[in-house]
Amino acid sequence: MPQPVQYRGMSLIAHARAHRLVVRKCAACGLLRYPPTHACPWCMELRFTWQELSGRGTIYSYEIVHHAIQPGFKELTPYPVVLVELDEQRGRPTPDESLRIIANLLTPDLRPEAEEKVAIGTRVRVVFQDLADHMALPQFTLTDEPPQGRVWRLP
Ligand SMILES: [Zn+2]
Repeated sequence: MPQPVQYRGMSLIAHARAHRLVVRKCAACGLLRYPPTHACPWCMELRFTWQELSGRGTIYSYEIVHHAIQPGFKELTPYPVVLVELDEQRGRPTPDESLRIIANLLTPDLRPEAEEKVAIGTRVRVVFQDLADHMALPQFTLTDEPPQGRVWRLP
């Protein structure tokens, strides 16, 4: 059974439960990466440190789930799934390979956000959905900040 990724004696799940978003930072080139792969995808370095993030970013892409694969999610449909480009490494190392995290887009009270409010370019911030005493999921919610770049939504 795989062991949870550790960060100063705590797992990523435990950090999320403590409402901290952390990712791996390459000890050689300094680039951040997610998901937490063993080697840096850009320079193959194995050494890394953990970096806490602001949790702020921009919706890079999204989809609306209308048909849940798992029956337990059926009552939540339709719900948005977003790919968030995080501010800490926007456009680096290239515009196509930025630091991005996939998550649900939720209202501040942790319900699925309305489809008509979701758009590429919209600003978001991380929120933590507590699932148990020992675990939480990083999710995202909309902010009042003006959008960045081209704004686009599903027609
Ligand atoms: Zn590297």
